[in-house]
Amino acid sequence: MNFIPYGRHSIDEKDIEAVVEVMRSGWLTQGPKIAEFEEALATYCGTRYAVVFSSGTAALHAAYAAIELRPGDKIITSPITFVATANAALYLGARPVFCDIERDTANLDATQIERLITNRTRAIVPVHFAGQPCDMDKILRIARHHNLYVIEDACHALGATYRGQRIGSLSDMTVFSFHPVKHVTTGEGGAVLTNNPDLYRKLRMFREHGITRDPRLLSGLNPGRQPDPWYYEMLHLGYNYRLSDLHCALGLSQLRKLDEFLKRRREIAALYNQTFAKTPAIQPLAQKPDRHSAYHIYVTQVNWKQIKKTRTEVCTSLRRSGISTQVHYIPVYRQPYYQRLGYAQGLCPRAEAYYEAALTLPLFPAMTNEDVYRVIKTVCNVCSI
Ligand SMILES: *Cc1c(COP(=O)(O)O)cnc(C)c1O
Repeated sequence: MNFIPYGRHSIDEKDIEAVVEVMRSGWLTQGPKIAEFEEALATYCGTRYAVVFSSGTAALHAAYAAIELRPGDKIITSPITFVATANAALYLGARPVFCDIERDTANLDATQIERLITNRTRAIVPVHFAGQPCDMDKILRIARHHNLYVIEDACHALGATYRGQRIGSLSDMTVFSFHPVKHVTTGEGGAVLTNNPDLYRKLRMFREHGITRDPRLLSGLNPGRQPDPWYYEMLHLGYNYRLSDLHCALGLSQLRKLDEFLKRRREIAALYNQTFAKTPAIQPLAQKPDRHSAYHIYVTQVNWKQIKKTRTEVCTSLRRSGISTQVHYIPVYRQPYYQRLGYAQGLCPRAEAYYEAALTLPLFPAMTNEDVYRVIKTVCNVCSI
């Protein structure tokens, strides 16, 4: 009996060939594959610019730096996300403010945002949880009204659509990750997409030590100047957050299969949805009719009282039957580090209730229908429903 993980990348011979080709090419990093991958991403999402980074976390850090987030500044985001969404604000001395979620989708509740806005708020950071976009029209309207940036953490949502529009160009910046559990992988990697040329320029510099060769930006403080071929200036304190040509070649090859991956993810989710529509004790997240989820993960809400078992018991039994599950996520502010910063337990009651009931079932493109039926059957057996 094969073991079914909760998520897994799909690598084929074409991906392997693409990476090997780069290894023979002479350009391991800072070569042509980077711009090629960026262009392919921008084209796929219908956005002007893409800037790739060494991880999704580095991409978030760069996006926050591009809006010049400073100590004392605040961003408003969801507690039901990976810690990186909030951590990247802390890197810059800013603070995340956690907004409670919608009980049915586990996405940021747009109706709760406005009461959290102060004169230190700089940005709203919606997280498209599990792959389903947040209520972007509402969020963008609030941001416009209060003169705030919107930076989407779309690490779960590559290929998702909102009101017919693909995620990637709805707001100021959109962040993606290419970690192996995500829709397409580069091993490690991430990207920021934007339509704004000024933000694009800042993202590029932040990735490369704050260095530029752009003659329009040079200070002229030094005796050297353009067009001296060796001349560059460091204008800000940036990082080395580059992604190599090896990674980008893998990303390009993976991106060609994204539509196929998405189709399979949605088929698997539909099989689960059909079953769990009929089981009151195990409920899938609600799907809004004006959005098309990219189904990064398949999240359920379980009524443990009703099935008379604890989450630990269910997870352990499933693991013994060769099925791995996960919990996405512990509310970020409940992490010990955030507790030490003074965030109160119970800050977002709906997020806490959601977390208590959450269980993520396996979902990845290489799952067969037999795998899915086995998961469904085993879950129903273990939960006696
Ligand atoms: C994966 C993920 C990240 C971070 O991406 P890395 O590439 O692992 O650094 C950030 N936010 C969310 C919601 C994610 O799922």
